[in-house]
Amino acid sequence: MGPDTGLRPVKVAVLGGGVAGLAAAFELSDPRHGGRFQVTLHQLGWRLGGKCASGRDLDTARRTKEHGPHIFFGFYDNAFALLREAYTALAADPARVFPTIEKALVAHNSLVAMEQQDDGSWQPWVIDLPTLPGRPGDILPQHQARTLDALVGIIERNATRLAVRQAPSPDALDTDVLIISTLKTVKLQAEELTQASLEPLTQASLESREAATARFAHSLKQLQTSIQAARPGPAEQTSWWRRLKILADLAVTTAIGMAIDNLIWPTRQSVAAANEIEYRAWLLRHGAQSATANSAIVRAMYDTVFAYPGGDVTVPGNVEAGSAVLTQKGLISYRGAPSYKMRTGTGDVTAAPLYQVLVQRGVTVNFFHRVDDLIPAADGTIESIRIGVQATPNPGGGGYQPLFHVKGVPAWPDRPFYDQLVEGKALREKHIDLESFWTCWPDPVQPIVLSRSAGDFDKVVLAIPVGALGRITTQLTQPGWRAMLAGSSTVPTQNVQVWLDRDTGWSSDAAPVVTGYDRAAIDTWLDASEVIPFEDWTPPAPLHMAILCGPLPELGAAPPPTDHAFPGAEATLVANAGLQFLDAATPLWPALTSANGFDWSALRAPAGSSGPLRFQAQFWVPAINPSDRYVLTLVGSSKTRLQPGASGYANLFLAGDWTDYGLNLGCFEGAVISGLMAANAITGDPRPILRNPFDES
Ligand SMILES: Cc1cc2nc3c(=O)[nH]c(=O)nc-3n(C[C@H](O)[C@H](O)[C@H](O)COP(=O)(O)OP(=O)(O)OC[C@H]3O[C@@H](n4cnc5c(N)ncnc54)[C@H](O)[C@@H]3O)c2cc1C
Repeated sequence: MGPDTGLRPVKVAVLGGGVAGLAAAFELSDPRHGGRFQVTLHQLGWRLGGKCASGRDLDTARRTKEHGPHIFFGFYDNAFALLREAYTALAADPARVFPTIEKALVAHNSLVAMEQQDDGSWQPWVIDLPTLPGRPGDILPQHQARTLDALVGIIERNATRLAVRQAPSPDALDTDVLIISTLKTVKLQAEELTQASLEPLTQASLESREAATARFAHSLKQLQTSIQAARPGPAEQTSWWRRLKILADLAVTTAIGMAIDNLIWPTRQSVAAANEIEYRAWLLRHGAQSATANSAIVRAMYDTVFAYPGGDVTVPGNVEAGSAVLTQKGLISYRGAPSYKMRTGTGDVTAAPLYQVLVQRGVTVNFFHRVDDLIPAADGTIESIRIGVQATPNPGGGGYQPLFHVKGVPAWPDRPFYDQLVEGKALREKHIDLESFWTCWPDPVQPIVLSRSAGDFDKVVLAIPVGALGRITTQLTQPGWRAMLAGSSTVPTQNVQVWLDRDTGWSSDAAPVVTGYDRAAIDTWLDASEVIPFEDWTPPAPLHMAILCGPLPELGAAPPPTDHAFPGAEATLVANAGLQFLDAATPLWPALTSANGFDWSALRAPAGSSGPLRFQAQFWVPAINPSDRYVLTLVGSSKTRLQPGASGYANLFLAGDWTDYGLNLGCFEGAVISGLMAANAITGDPRPILRNPFDES
């Protein structure tokens, strides 16, 4: 679709204010487009951010309540670039606590996968990653071939560190040396191939690339054989030795798979072919040992993307190999730190500054606007949008102001500011959750119907996630649309946060993100203690805040919206899972447990409460609303996804991590890329997508 021209601005309705909708609105309102687009964003409830939304607890210490833990990875180039622009646009305010996005994040260098031993006990497997030159978000040329080099480099570095850290017995040295030297050979080969063979091949024909990568794969196969043939002697049967072998096997196998399946310079076709295979099966197909494919480190990848249909963590998990490998290429070729944690709530760090810039630029944000229906015309355009109005701002009040300051940080509250709303008293007294799909709250006024032919909008960016689209798009009957809905899959998640007055016993740099702890569906712990200084505790503040999360097992199909008791019942399940997690926390938090189980006095709670009752003062939430469900990337699902600029409806553009945006895994970066792609399809003056996986350079 070409650029739009005309005398009046093109009116764009952005539906949904999660990261994807915000990114689309941000790009459409970029001053570079000279005001060509008049953007109105419609969002249900009182806040922006979607799955990344957070809210400050108006009852307790303005503490941060999340939908789930969020970290950024060092390959989130588009997310960093966008947020850097937003923070720069707000820099004129000298009072800003976080003048740059870097100041609002904490770089983090280690990830931990919990590993169950043969005797049933759990041990942490710490993966250390160095800080690398550069910053995520800076525009640099990509060299696809370099990711191979980076892959083996990182794993070899970890192998060497493991060797130093865990000082194996002298007897073990022969096989250790074999594996480390094998890795070094792989790294050298990768470097050699990258610099001498593969890089020049960027300009070469497909055939010469294929021949070079086939030779590369052949020599890697020989290395794979020697790694796998290495056997520990009796004195070498240590977790150190086993992990080293797994790392080596994983590195070499991934490199082989990338070479054979044309994922070094991926094309849409080569990724589509790999997406027909499940990731673990892909590793096995390329010769990985079963111990590698089923290792804690591979499992961590599944946990990170909640890859368990129905929330059942007892099954092995399901994710497309092509999408997984493309994302791993990003993970290993990061710039700056490998990961970043938030200094305050995810919504405060991300959605709040984006919102502030949008307002500066004249974008209208309509809170309490719930999109109920998209109605097409016979000519294949979206003709009208029906919107339910959940609440109305007080007349003459200047509109709803959604942010307030906590310790100087613009922040979202965990509920609406009732005093700004006509219906505020009733909403407060009835404890209405306007984000809930199962709310008993009736809309207080008639719905709004926006009409394209009446000039209310020209184009639509649909940034509401696929999990919620079944009900909103019943009238979109094109086969591609129906196939997309049928091919999609989502899973509910659960989030528990505990504030601790005692230390967990982990050094702060070793306990950022712990995955793979699968005693129950809660398999992930994020040490989010960085947020505490920006909460408002009566001294002394808690020492630690832990976010515990995982998929939420589903007992059946979600009930209809009239089942108002459903959220309460699900919340009870999450609370029980949290209690169960703490009760069984000994392997993870030995410092907080004794022979009698978890020491409940470690939890911050009002004086007078004791034992497990102290848990009542913590926070838990089921992420069960259709749009809050995590979007899965099950084998073969990418082929039914639609690209942001190709919805099948002429004036409808799609934004969200559920679209076919390239990597196709549910992540902040994906939501940004997709939002930018939707905006690019409208403006015809595209903002470059950084690190485009199908970029040939
Ligand atoms: C528990 C959890 C942990 C995660 N951790 C990470 C992480 O560590 N790192 C990472 O990169 N990614 C993480 N993710 C993924 C990340 O949160 C998502 O990829 C991203 O937020 C998706 O953004 P989106 O804009 O596509 O959708 P959403 O965030 O879901 O936004 C959709 C928006 O539409 C609104 N909406 C829905 N229905 C309507 C309606 N009818 N009318 C109007 N508005 C509506 C919603 O309220 C929301 O604001 C995590 C996700 C979950 C669930």
